[in-house]
Amino acid sequence: MQRFARYVIVALFSLILIFTVVAPACAPAVPATLPPAVSVPAAPAKLPPTPAGMINSALGPISPDKLGQTLIHEHFAFAYPGWTADDSIAPYDRQAVIDNSLKIAQLAKSVGIQTIVDPTPNDCGGRDPLVYKEVSKQTGVNIICTTGLYFEKEGSPAYWESRVAWGVDLSKMISELFIKEITEGIGATGVKAGAIKVGTSPVMTDYEKLVHKAAIIAQKATGVPIITHTEGPTGGVEQAEFLITNGADPKKVMIGHVTNSKDIEYHRAILAKGVKVGFDRLGLAVLYGVPDDLSVKNIATLVKDNNYGDRILLSHDTVNLWLGRSLVKDVPEKAMPLFKDWRIDHVSKDILPMLKAQGLTDDQINTIMVGNARNLFLGK
Ligand SMILES: [Zn+2]
Repeated sequence: MQRFARYVIVALFSLILIFTVVAPACAPAVPATLPPAVSVPAAPAKLPPTPAGMINSALGPISPDKLGQTLIHEHFAFAYPGWTADDSIAPYDRQAVIDNSLKIAQLAKSVGIQTIVDPTPNDCGGRDPLVYKEVSKQTGVNIICTTGLYFEKEGSPAYWESRVAWGVDLSKMISELFIKEITEGIGATGVKAGAIKVGTSPVMTDYEKLVHKAAIIAQKATGVPIITHTEGPTGGVEQAEFLITNGADPKKVMIGHVTNSKDIEYHRAILAKGVKVGFDRLGLAVLYGVPDDLSVKNIATLVKDNNYGDRILLSHDTVNLWLGRSLVKDVPEKAMPLFKDWRIDHVSKDILPMLKAQGLTDDQINTIMVGNARNLFLGK
């Protein structure tokens, strides 16, 4: 009896301890804003293999023939690393991103775009497979997202570089992440990455070389394309050379942002490596001072005189929503006209007619808008 009483006292004491000390400590802190529910149930962490020859889209595997007119580089939402530090002021609002992205996807669809590739890297803000899934489901526009890391200055190298000191094979470690997101899925979102995104500084840094090697390992393992960021009007040739020398398939590489340069010799030098190029900042002349009509002239020359029509892709690199505190709001009113063409329907509405005026045929334009994205994924 005495023993039983002791048990009761111990049990009671334990309960009091649990309710007064342990439970409150274990309870999750209430976040400032709870993420709104999304009408997509959590998927298993590991998705079944993608059938050979199919592309990973937000809604699952699709045939390359289903891509149609494709914008190869647009961001539904974006933020530079570090934005989460400002979370108290400007928390992530998934529903707001979905609402805005729906409008963007609808606008793109209204001018004939069937596929949008959003290459937001893992270490920047804005990559949200649940958003892509929902927007694709509601609009019928294919959305393909990427796995990847941004260039050193504007990415998050600290996490990875801290491991180099301990002798970690960083390329192998990063490639494991890329491969997992391409073959099994991104977390439990039920979405697999369909391509790899990497970037370089004007002169490739040691960190960027390790990331590029990781991309090559992942491409060899999975067969997906590599889409790049180049910083400024140089660096594309070196980037292509590095990727190819280390084993990437040039047909599955698109060197991005060649619109940063007005120099057609620069474009030719990259194309001579056998890769594809992205004239993917159309409407953003304000960034490097290259007007669209000059880019259009260069594209037309590359197609008509140099027979490169089967390796050029077009896009805008739009950021349709800045996460954190809006950057756009900080742009002075007077400067806004500089961004008037930086919109998702600019290529379809303005650039394609300009290319036609330069003498490109419907067939050549169809190759640029439809065939080249398909071939980037197929390696043709
Ligand atoms: Zn971009």
